[in-house]
Amino acid sequence: MLRFASLGSGSQGNASLVECGSTRILIDCGFSLIETERRLQRLGCSANSLSAILVTHEHADHAAGVGRLSRRYQLPVYLTVGSFNAMRDRQFAQTQFINLKQKLTLGDLEITPFSVHHDAREPCQFIISDGAASLGILTDTGSYTEDILRHLDNVQGLMLECNYETELLMQGSYPYLLKQRVSGAYGHLSNQQALELLKKISIDRLQYLVGMHLSEVNNLPAHAYQALCKGVGGESEGIKLASQQEGLGWHSLS
Ligand SMILES: [Zn+2]
Ligand SMILES: [Zn+2]
Repeated sequence: MLRFASLGSGSQGNASLVECGSTRILIDCGFSLIETERRLQRLGCSANSLSAILVTHEHADHAAGVGRLSRRYQLPVYLTVGSFNAMRDRQFAQTQFINLKQKLTLGDLEITPFSVHHDAREPCQFIISDGAASLGILTDTGSYTEDILRHLDNVQGLMLECNYETELLMQGSYPYLLKQRVSGAYGHLSNQQALELLKKISIDRLQYLVGMHLSEVNNLPAHAYQALCKGVGGESEGIKLASQQEGLGWHSLS
């Protein structure tokens, strides 16, 4: 059985856990070593039990803690060549390059990377499957492509970015250029874009839908939640939000 959780999600740090059997992988690590250990503990895990770290891109909120965690626990790090070259700290216990055209197998998990539109060197996101169920992860993309939609079709679990509510971003305190960056084609997905994306994929098998990477300045949980509900055609117990402080507890896909 595949299950997943979040250590925390937002511009101050991101990390997600996905496991099946004895394989447990961390997607991104934007927290300090001590904070990562604390948050893992909260989810009943120790960093010793991790199999690998996958990195989506080099931005600090996803990558700042990767090097230290890898060295401390001798964890292999999987990332694209572009992300590796753009990382500040790239002293990993072991480095494995992700080819965006190739699936990779890590223990009981099959990982399908796909590229996204984000202002990083070679960013990607993932579909993770245990053969029975699959989880789609999509954050840090300013737009969705046909290729992205194809990958997310028919997933059982989806962790989907709901970064900002357009009105809050535009009326908010961010400088003009930053507003342009966030809302641009290589920035982040808005609540509205998440809603539109959901309308374009098949969600017949969807069990859990999790709003991710919510801005604490330009969004409100209620707005993101409403957009996700609209996207799937109504309220559902399977709709969750991952927060910056609390992340999200374990959820299993059957
Ligand atoms: Zn980013
Ligand atoms: Zn980010």
